[in-house]
Amino acid sequence: MKRLPCWSGWRKDNPVYSVQTRIFTLDPQNPDPAVIVQAAERLHADGLVAFPTETVYGLGANAFSAVAVGRIFEVKKRPFYDPVIVHLSDISQIEQVARDIPSLAYELAQAYWPGPLTLVLKKGPQVAPNVSAGLDTVAVRMPNHRIPLALVETSGLPVAAPSANLFTRPSPTSARHVLEDLNGHVDIILDGGDCPIGLESTILDLTASPPTVLRHGGLDLDLLRERIPHLQIARRYVQTDEGLPMSAPGMLAKHYSPKAPLLLFTAQTDAALTRLRDLASALAGRGFKVGVMTTMEDARHFSDLNLEIADLGSAADLPQIGRRLFAQMRRLDSLRVDVILVRAPAQEGLGLTIWDRLFRAAEGKVFDLDKPLEAEEIISLLVKKEE
Ligand code: AMP
Ligand code: MG
Repeated sequence: MKRLPCWSGWRKDNPVYSVQTRIFTLDPQNPDPAVIVQAAERLHADGLVAFPTETVYGLGANAFSAVAVGRIFEVKKRPFYDPVIVHLSDISQIEQVARDIPSLAYELAQAYWPGPLTLVLKKGPQVAPNVSAGLDTVAVRMPNHRIPLALVETSGLPVAAPSANLFTRPSPTSARHVLEDLNGHVDIILDGGDCPIGLESTILDLTASPPTVLRHGGLDLDLLRERIPHLQIARRYVQTDEGLPMSAPGMLAKHYSPKAPLLLFTAQTDAALTRLRDLASALAGRGFKVGVMTTMEDARHFSDLNLEIADLGSAADLPQIGRRLFAQMRRLDSLRVDVILVRAPAQEGLGLTIWDRLFRAAEGKVFDLDKPLEAEEIISLLVKKEE
C-alpha cells in the first residue's frame, strides 16, 4: 500500500489543542441555521466541531486543512496511522475529494446515501494527507442526519470526522459522551440527541479488487452482495496496536473498549447460561463488582445476584441492542465495575456488527458456555489484569 508523506500533528510532548467548549442543542430534524453558521465558521478557522450522525457522534474538521485534521488526532490521542472518514452532503462532492471514481461508487452512493456506508476511493490531491494517514486512498460517506448535512453544506467544506471519543473508548452515541471524553478540546458540540443507529458505518474498499468490506457496520452486507456478487470480507482483526503498515487501517483488535475488562461468551442454548450465572456469582463472591450486559430475556438468570445489570433490550430487536451497546459500556464504566460479562449475539445481519464491536471490546477474550467453564482460570485472568 503506497504511503504519501504525512504529518499527523500529534506529538506526545506537544500541548493538546485546548479551547472553551460550547454546546448547542439543536432539533435533529430542523437545525437552527444560525448555530450551523457559527459551527461552519469554526471549521473555516481550523477549529473542531462535534456533531451527531445516524451512526455515532463525529469529531469534525476541515478535510482540506492538515492543521485542523492534526487537531483531531491530537485531542483523540489517535495514532497517526489510523485514517479518518470524510463527510459529504452531496454525491457530486465526491469529485472534490477523490479521483478515478468507478461507476460502482456512484451506483452505491445513489442507492445507500445518505446512510451508513463508507466508500474507500483513490484520494484527490486537495484532501490533507493526514486525513488518509498518508495512504493514497480516502474514505467518504454522506451521513443520514440533517445536522452534519447542514454543516457540510453551509461550510462548503468536506468534513473529516472520526468518532468523537478518546481513542479506544466506546464510540459516543450522545452529546454527553462527547463531553465526557473531549471537554475543553473541541470548540463546539452540536447536541442533536441520541444517534439512531449507534454503531459505525460499514466500510467498503472500492480500490480493492474485488471490492472488500473493511469494517462491519450499520449497512447489511446482504444489500451489498446484491450489487457486488464477489464481495470480499477483509481479515477482520489485526492483533496489534503498533506497527506499520497495517493491512487494513483502523482494524485494531483493541478498540471500542470500556475501562473494565469485558469477557464475551457464546452459548447455543439458554441452559448454558446457568454457567454464566455461576461465574458471575463466583466473581461477586470473590469481591469483584460485576457488570452484566444482557438482553431482557436473559436477565432473569441473573436477577437474584448482586450485580450491575445493563439492559440491552429484547434479543429480537437487534437495532435497539445496537443503539444501546456503547452507551451501556460507558454506563458500566461510570459505575466502576471490575469486569463486564456479555453473551454474544448470533453473527447474522446487524448481529455480525454487534458481535464485531463486542469482540474488539473483549480484545478477543471469548469463552464457550456450551462447555464447562473454568471459573478459576477466568478469575486469574482478571487478577493478572488488575496487577
Ligand atoms: P472512526 O470514524 O473513528 O470509526 O474511524 C474511521 C475508520 O475508517 C478508520 O479506523 C479506518 O478503519 C477507516 N478508514 C478511514 N479511511 C480509510 C482509508 N483510506 N482506507 C481504509 N480504511 C479507512
Ligand atoms: Mg472510532
